[in-house]
Amino acid sequence: MENFIRTVLEKLTVEEKISLVSGTSNMGIGKIPRLGIREVFMADGPQGIRREGTPDMTNTALPCGLALAASFDTELAQQYGGVIAEDARACGIRASLGPGMNLMRTPLNGRTFEYYGEDPVLSGRIAAGYIKGCQAKGVAACPKHLALNNQEICRTIGNSICDHAVLRDLYLENFEIAVTGGKPQMVMTAYNKINGIQASEYEYTQKKFLREECGFDGVTVSDWGGTHDIKKALLGGQDLEMGGGENTLARKNLAAHIKNGDVPMDVLDNAVLNNLRLLYRMGAFDKEENCSGYKLCSDESLKFVRRAAVEGAVLLENKNSFLPLERGRYKKITVTGPSANFKHHIRSVVYGGGSGATYPPYEVTVYDALKARFGADCEVNLAPGILHELEEIMPEKMIREDFDAEYFDDIETMYNGGEPFLVRKENPININYGSMNVGGVSDDSISERKFAGRLHGFITPVKSGHIGIQLGINQMYAKFRVNGKEITCGNFDIYAPVCELQVEKDVPVEIDIEVNYYPNKGAGISLRYFDFDNQRMQTAIELAAASDLVIYVGGSNHIFDKEGIGWGNVPYSDIPSMKLPYGQSEFIAKLYDANPNICVVLLNGSALEVEEFADKVPAMLEMFYPGMECGNAVADILFGEKTPQGRLPFSWCRKLEDYPPHANKSYPGTVDDNAHVNYLEGMFIGYRYMDKEKIDVRYPFGYGLSYGKFEHEMVETVRNGAHDFSVRVRVKNISDIADAEVIQLYVGSDEFPERPVKALRDFVKVKLNGNEEKIVELKLGKRDFSHYSRMKNAICFYPGKYNIYLGTSANDIFAASTVEPE
Ligand code: BGC
Repeated sequence: MENFIRTVLEKLTVEEKISLVSGTSNMGIGKIPRLGIREVFMADGPQGIRREGTPDMTNTALPCGLALAASFDTELAQQYGGVIAEDARACGIRASLGPGMNLMRTPLNGRTFEYYGEDPVLSGRIAAGYIKGCQAKGVAACPKHLALNNQEICRTIGNSICDHAVLRDLYLENFEIAVTGGKPQMVMTAYNKINGIQASEYEYTQKKFLREECGFDGVTVSDWGGTHDIKKALLGGQDLEMGGGENTLARKNLAAHIKNGDVPMDVLDNAVLNNLRLLYRMGAFDKEENCSGYKLCSDESLKFVRRAAVEGAVLLENKNSFLPLERGRYKKITVTGPSANFKHHIRSVVYGGGSGATYPPYEVTVYDALKARFGADCEVNLAPGILHELEEIMPEKMIREDFDAEYFDDIETMYNGGEPFLVRKENPININYGSMNVGGVSDDSISERKFAGRLHGFITPVKSGHIGIQLGINQMYAKFRVNGKEITCGNFDIYAPVCELQVEKDVPVEIDIEVNYYPNKGAGISLRYFDFDNQRMQTAIELAAASDLVIYVGGSNHIFDKEGIGWGNVPYSDIPSMKLPYGQSEFIAKLYDANPNICVVLLNGSALEVEEFADKVPAMLEMFYPGMECGNAVADILFGEKTPQGRLPFSWCRKLEDYPPHANKSYPGTVDDNAHVNYLEGMFIGYRYMDKEKIDVRYPFGYGLSYGKFEHEMVETVRNGAHDFSVRVRVKNISDIADAEVIQLYVGSDEFPERPVKALRDFVKVKLNGNEEKIVELKLGKRDFSHYSRMKNAICFYPGKYNIYLGTSANDIFAASTVEPE
């Protein structure tokens, strides 16, 4: 391959070279037919292939990244990458823009659900698994976002200020493990600045770290729109500017830089070579794309989704072995809570989470699954009590109906009866007018010009009720009228006033929206509907009181767990608080008072405050966003057909102030055009901080209960070399239930009191039949006794005495010992 791509390089004109360091379209690269280079395509990414720009966007919706991390299973991660690649190949896509792997610094980061939690070793190994599985099927993987993109607030302009040692030791370690272990063919840089330098221009991460230290031979790509200066980016080690199209900085400005020598030809050649290598790997030199033999949403993929959801499910509470539930014991079950019958993926709440959104062809809710499976034996009733959105009054199908849209040259023309330049049908549930292609909804045809527009339509409720309608406006001017009454007029940057109104069955509600657009990457609107019905909760409480079992399904949704929409100084793009939205905590407490036989199932993407009910309710199961087979996986677990096998990939605190960036008030930093955030806590995030400050966490990192019962014992520590050790552990399942246990190996040293007490260095998930026993082996090597040296500006090995801790969570240590690497 190397010789071949070099010969291709020699044949390229300067113009062709320039075209190869930026995309051909939003997701395309390549396209030099003269030399047999086809245009090949990428797609997001982290938890399912989002087929942007196609009328049918369906894909396999896998459990979210956080759920995958919770599996603590690198083998599973590999299969997960394989499922993503299978979908990609079936639609002719040859690169997946995932895994997403920024560490969890704060639970409020809107993209926590996509990522792999707070620990670099766990995150790095899960990512390496994804990458291997994906690339084994011929689809390039692209770990992202390098680096310090740990919040969405102001992500496109923010400056993340972090001690260099902490950057290398903590925030780059997961990338190091992913790159050296998974050998990705691409890496995406972050939108933010790193200590004052744009991540897309940062030489240290792109050249020294990735290429010299990790041996990376792929393509560094800027996040979409994250190239600010093509000269600085190329000199800083960037290979590819995305998204593409005629307006990329490379296509506009690079020729001049090459001509005047600002960007030396060998710098361009080097980037081109990296791109040719990627194109070769993506099959761009093949005659045509070969999709045969690959199947979108195949039966195997769907089976995998269900299994992976179970493997990542974390049992948080199970007082007196309340779970698994005995089949046949309950005659009347109430399924309640906003997620009981809510399709988190299919129904696009704003835009389903952002670029990590998935659009499955179906989604099984918990209510659907329980009703289908147990409806014959017992009465299964649905009473959500609270709604995320208004499914009951305005079903999905209806809110997806298109409005009439007309676009004019300007406001003058629109108001004075001029001719529109574009008339079409369009749905205001989510329109991104700007070119920034978040969530796959964009409009390249008009994003580059200014215009004024009018959208007009009706929604007709299928039931009477008290509702709220809100127009979210992002970085543009809009007017919003409901039944002729003006509700919003102005630029509200996401949170706009909500129109509360009583609607009657079959009586249409008229909606008018006017927009005034100037080219702006992040401009857009989104229409949302809310519930304002207090009676709904009362109905659920009464039904719960009259049942013998209550299953509560709630948590959050993708209005909160999402990528930051918009560009620039966007203040509201993270999760607003750790509280369960819509007063769910109070609701759960009331349900418990009505009927203490309640099991809480959480579907959400980060830590939530559960203090009001966690000590009361007999069972609590965290599913994260478990993908399209959600209901089936939950039913499998609740009734004991499967055991929940996940462990927490983050420390779950009792309150927000227990997390370091909130304790030291560095989050979200300054929120203005000069936005910056100071990583004041250094390397003490997650359990590293909880250990140091002795925080009484609600659930520690690595924690999760099981249906099975295990005994563990350290058997021996074997020295395999000067600095290589094996730690052997006996794990015995002392129950009759086949189940899995996760053994975690932490290392620390008294010789470095300024460093964390302990850090995870290895883990193993062991599956045991009832009463089975196994000896598992965990490994330590040189890298586990190394850390960054400021003097040498490198990761260095430090021989000496180290403490090792074996645990089933960061707080449940069952054995400790010492080793002395030399
Ligand atoms: C996101 C990336 C994504 C890209 C392409 C950006 O907004 O930050 O994670 O891969 O869009 O959709």
